[in-house]
Amino acid sequence: MIDRRVFIKNLGLALGAAYIPHTSFALPSAKLKVALVGLGRYAKIVADNMKDSGLCEITGLVSGSPEKLSSWQKTYGVPSENCYNYENFDNIKSNSQIDLVYVILPNSMHKEYTLRAANAGKHFIVEKPMALNAHDCLEMINACNKARVQLAMGYRLHFEPYNLEMKRLGQDKVFGPVRHMETSLGYDSADANNWRHKIALSGGGPLMNLGVYCIQAARYISGEEPLAVSAQFGPKTAKPELFKEIEASITWQMEFPSGALCNSTSTYMSSIDRLYASADNGFFEMSPAISYGPFKGRTHIEELHFPEINQQAAQMDGIAAYILAKKPVPSHISGQEGYMDMKVIDAVYKSAKSGGKRVRV
Ligand code: NAD
Repeated sequence: MIDRRVFIKNLGLALGAAYIPHTSFALPSAKLKVALVGLGRYAKIVADNMKDSGLCEITGLVSGSPEKLSSWQKTYGVPSENCYNYENFDNIKSNSQIDLVYVILPNSMHKEYTLRAANAGKHFIVEKPMALNAHDCLEMINACNKARVQLAMGYRLHFEPYNLEMKRLGQDKVFGPVRHMETSLGYDSADANNWRHKIALSGGGPLMNLGVYCIQAARYISGEEPLAVSAQFGPKTAKPELFKEIEASITWQMEFPSGALCNSTSTYMSSIDRLYASADNGFFEMSPAISYGPFKGRTHIEELHFPEINQQAAQMDGIAAYILAKKPVPSHISGQEGYMDMKVIDAVYKSAKSGGKRVRV
């Protein structure tokens, strides 16, 4: 039986109210002081949406562009002494006005700035994908353990009501055990000059950028870790000049210990944004499921209706609540979660490169 009133209350959500994280401990009164590293498109979305955050404030900025720093400084009211470039970033260590660094740079730079933030004694959030491979993720986790700082992933969907409902329906076996899943994300990407098309900066194509969400969804719906994968690169496209360094699309299958299977695609060739789960006694699905919404979801019984929330503010407050209270962030949003996803990504690429051989994760 689905009791969505209880579910929404447990999320700490109320229609028309700001997001308040639901924790077993008292929420702190101080705010977490956040520096954004990399002032690109997603950093702008995060910065603008932080207006609804109850527990975080932007107190620092890091960019290689003096013009960008100056204009962001004015927009978000950040003092000059809290602005850094990539060369003097390490001086952040002595700045008590910054508690946490949010790394929103191209994928290949996540590891370097994570290690530098840890060395500076700052907590940090890293955008997806956590790094270029699982080995680098472990290095990042070890560095923050050594520095006694916390690492959280920028996984906004762990705070989003429709996705949390998918997780609940799957993990609580509301319609019986899940047997089959499909999780896919894609869009038409036509800008060959974007760093996402350069392997040295992106580490790969749509699998790195979008596939990480498909793996996440299969993992949080099933509550299991994939045992093995088989993968196939999509065909070369009508626009090969766009895909000289990266795959245009990739499809893969994940096998889970319970016997559940998931079929996933991530692509830069067409629009797709869905997840579907079939269980013994019914099904549940979402489309759109992963983008910024508005989301649509249903089960075999009914349409689902949840509030559309400010995903970035919810994520920031959900993480800040733990860091301010000096409690470890829950494992499902920690570096361990990013590492588990990267292990699957590594296996998917290995399988696709071998022509589709089954690879154990
Ligand atoms: P972007 O290209 O808009 O911004 C990247 C920023 O990095 C820019 O400010 C750019 O100046 C800076 N930069 C520094 N060195 C660079 C270099 N050598 N090449 C290119 N840029 C360089 O990218 P974005 O969309 O903001 O993505 C940044 C990160 O955020 C990525 O890891 C991406 O996967 C992630 N992201 C997450 C979400 C989400 O919903 N969680 C959404 C979009 C992007």
